[in-house]
Amino acid sequence: MQEDLKIFYYGSPILREKLPKIEEIPEGFDRLVESMFELMSEEEGIGLSANQVGKGLRFFIADFSLYKDDMAKKVFINPKILEREGKTRDEEGCLSLPEIKVNVDRADRIKVHYRDRDLKEHTKEFTGYLSRVIQHETDHLNGTFMTDRISPLKRKLLDNKLKQIAKMAKKELKQS
Ligand SMILES: [Zn+2]
Repeated sequence: MQEDLKIFYYGSPILREKLPKIEEIPEGFDRLVESMFELMSEEEGIGLSANQVGKGLRFFIADFSLYKDDMAKKVFINPKILEREGKTRDEEGCLSLPEIKVNVDRADRIKVHYRDRDLKEHTKEFTGYLSRVIQHETDHLNGTFMTDRISPLKRKLLDNKLKQIAKMAKKELKQS
């Protein structure tokens, strides 16, 4: 059975929280993860953090199968970026920021430590788009949006859109 999840939008307080580390796998975790993968694929996303579905747990999911065969349906628990190298700029979108696209500077290559859904430890290097998605999702776990990483001038241009999304988020929070 799947869990009924919805996307939390910019303006929801949990998206500004620094999420606490997972020390042991909580009850119902597999079900939550599978429901997140389902929602993410419906929404045509490539990465989704726990707080984007209103859960205060330090993990995100990603599906990189379009880019790498062995990187379908990955779970990153307590991710920590150990090294960053190089700089690239590319366009990003975010399921919590509908209709917004911004160019964001990110490190090109990262080394990241994380645990998988069995809490097994991994230290891996990622480059290019995968690296970008991991940085974007790790930011979410620290309460940071892609729009925090653009110039104040560019953000000002998005001000009205951001306010509209925050309004929608407030309405949805009241309903739930
Ligand atoms: Zn996002």
